[in-house]
This record gives sequence, structure tokens and C-alpha cells, in this order.
Amino acid sequence: MSFRLANRAGQAVLLDGQDYWALGADPMDALTRPQELHDRWASRNAPDGQVTLAELGPPVPAPMQVFGYGLNYMDHIEELDREDPLGSAASEAPVVFTKFPTCLAGPAAPVQLVGDYCDYECELVVVIGVETSNVDEGQAWDRVAGLMIGQDISDRALQTAASPPQFNLGKSRASFGPTGPALVTPDLVDNPDDLAISCRINGELRQNSRTSLLMRPVAEMVSYLSLILTLHPGDIIFTGTPGGVGHAQGLYLKPGDVITSEIEGLGALENVCI
Ligand code: ZN
Repeated sequence: MSFRLANRAGQAVLLDGQDYWALGADPMDALTRPQELHDRWASRNAPDGQVTLAELGPPVPAPMQVFGYGLNYMDHIEELDREDPLGSAASEAPVVFTKFPTCLAGPAAPVQLVGDYCDYECELVVVIGVETSNVDEGQAWDRVAGLMIGQDISDRALQTAASPPQFNLGKSRASFGPTGPALVTPDLVDNPDDLAISCRINGELRQNSRTSLLMRPVAEMVSYLSLILTLHPGDIIFTGTPGGVGHAQGLYLKPGDVITSEIEGLGALENVCI
């Protein structure tokens, strides 16, 4: 399957650069019909028009479930001075939290800061394509509809306010989940397990890594969740962020900051903090 699926004003569109083709469908319905999207993509000719990043909503606006993996790149673990969760006890469970779907926002949506400790986390985001339970790693990629860029914006103060800490609310404030610009099928990127990923704040490079450095790769993350619960079409997995977050440097987001998040083959998000 090959297509790039986006959300223009609440309607599903195919997106190629700035060109779009209207599908006359709800974005959540559209992603359940990959063969139709593939056929429309393969036969696309004159576009219906052009769209700017700011006109796009989140490609998957209303998933049933949104998961976030934490501590999934070694340099991020090191910068937080945490113990390697895979080190002494290789069987230890991964750190997984939820971002509630109401936090999802478009690829150029403003990020509404609250307090003085909001932070950026550029991440590869995986979108599930079909109902999935008990899938092994060898079959996991077959259950993936596509990939997006995501920002796991985090209110560090709220994330650590309770004891023991509960990440869910601090990562779920309104606008804390910019995603997009499009849901891109894995075959349209060179190697879906090895993509350059970077984040700039006001043009300054803060995060710069590759998804091949994910300690638990995509297939393992999908399989692990599917052994616990049923994954549904449109479910989203934020896969973790590489080193370079603001929290580790005492550099939190300020109003006016521009967050530019890029992943090879997927495009870029550009979110202004307000
Ligand atoms: Zn994260």
C-alpha cells in the first residue's frame, strides 16, 4: 500500500507536497480503507488544490487509544540520569503511558503553554491500520497503516507532581499532541526502521538522531501492546524521544518559540508556542 493521508478542515485528503486530492470522507473512516486510498494515490492526476501546513489538522483526529513509550533512546535515558531499563533486568517492562486523544493537534497548530516547565519531544508516531491482538514481532509491521511525526509536548511539573509520578495528564494538556503532516505508508520511506529524526527550537538544533536507535523498535512496541489489549484502526503509538530535550538542559519552552520537528521522508511539523 502507498499513500499519504492528511486532514484538511476535517475531511480526508491525499497529500503530495502541497497538492491535495479530496476523498469526500471522514479521516477516521478513510484510514480503514487502505486499498481504496492506494488506488486513488496510484491514479492521482491534477490535484484539487493546494494546502498550507496551517490548514491541516491531525491526520488521525480521534483514535480510540494513544500510547507513549518513554525512555526508548539510550541518550535520552542518560541525559535524565536514569538507569538503563534494559540493563540489569532485560525482562523489565517498558515505560508506557497514555496521551489522551483530546490533546491531538495539527502539524502547525499553536502549542498552548501552561506554566514554566513545558518541554518538547520529537517522536516517530506509528498508526495502527487493522484490529490487532496477540501479534508477534514478525507480523507487527503488517498491522501498521503508516507513520507520522509527533510532538509529545510535556508539562514536566505536572508530569512529576504526584508520587509516584503519573505521566498521563502532564502529556495530555490541550494542543500537547501535534501530529502530521500526513499519515505516510511505510513503503514510501527508505527504511521505516532507520529514519533521521530532528528537532529545532527557533532554528537551533536540539535533537538529532535516527530511529534505528530505538531500544525497542516499532515491531516490538506493537507486539508488546497487542499482547495486553486490542489495538484498533487509528490507534497511535508515540515511540519515544531521543536525547536533547529541554528538561535535561534547563531550557523550557517560552511563548514565541518555534518548534520544528522533522523526520526523513515524513516532512516537518512547525508549531509556535503561545
Ligand atoms: Zn515522549
